[in-house]
Amino acid sequence: MPIALSKVVVVTGAARGIGLAIARRFLAGNWRAVLLDIDGPTLAATARGLGREAQALPIECDVAEPGQVGDAIDQVVARFGRIDALVNNAGIALFKPLLETTYEEWARVLAVNLSGPFLCTQACAPVMLKGGGGSVVNIGSISGVRASTLRVAYGTSKAALAHLTRQQAAELGNAGIRVNGVAPGPVDTAMARQVHTPAIRADYHDAIPLNRYGTEEEIAAAVWFLCSDEASYINGQMLAVDGGFDASGIGLRALREE
Ligand code: NDP
Repeated sequence: MPIALSKVVVVTGAARGIGLAIARRFLAGNWRAVLLDIDGPTLAATARGLGREAQALPIECDVAEPGQVGDAIDQVVARFGRIDALVNNAGIALFKPLLETTYEEWARVLAVNLSGPFLCTQACAPVMLKGGGGSVVNIGSISGVRASTLRVAYGTSKAALAHLTRQQAAELGNAGIRVNGVAPGPVDTAMARQVHTPAIRADYHDAIPLNRYGTEEEIAAAVWFLCSDEASYINGQMLAVDGGFDASGIGLRALREE
């Protein structure tokens, strides 16, 4: 397919980690990729490292700021003229006891993890519809599937994002845009290294049948599938990519000690 006609994905939080792996997966599939991120210097270094100026467009943007999101999507339209997929990946983690979480911390986590996907989808959907439809993938978390300690803001934001996914799927599916989500288990990114203490890492191993963290590429592969024609009748689903965490309850540690 000639580059000029190739599809376009917008990935938020793509300067590093899971978002960057997603952008790389789409570039490998001959799509063009827009990398949105709040961290300008890291984004610029990432874009230089990719070395794909014709196909990869970095844009500095805070997904929680409506004006910045609007400006960013205007730039995408001016440069590429179409949007075929949006991956709402940008997120921030705060692991703190409930009674110590300040209102400002709570509000910022909700703004980035929940309002960000709301705003970016509202900005991208009209462009997708002009091109005949598309696909949105929201990056949730296993912390939104089951409640656990220290995650009052993060877990609540991700649980709400799962419901936003279904709301978006109901209305946008009717217009030609499929909306799904991926709920990753733990992945060894900069975010995880910041909030996963040795005790938390051990807890994850105790709760995951595959007994390991996932990789950025394993999450990217699921997103790629959900945006592909192979997933053409999948809409409104949260796909857990978590080594079996969501599927299992107690007993793993005892099983392993046997
Ligand atoms: P990282 O922190 O490694 O990367 C996220 C990127 O998003 C960073 O560059 C970050 O910039 C950027 N970002 C943060 N806030 C904004 C914003 N308001 N607007 C635009 N960009 C922003 O995270 P991961 O790759 O680990 O996580 C990606 C997604 O996957 C998140 O939604 C996360 O919740 C989810 N997830 C991650 C898991 C894990 O174990 N890693 C597990 C389950 C879900 P900056 O550093 O400057 O904030």
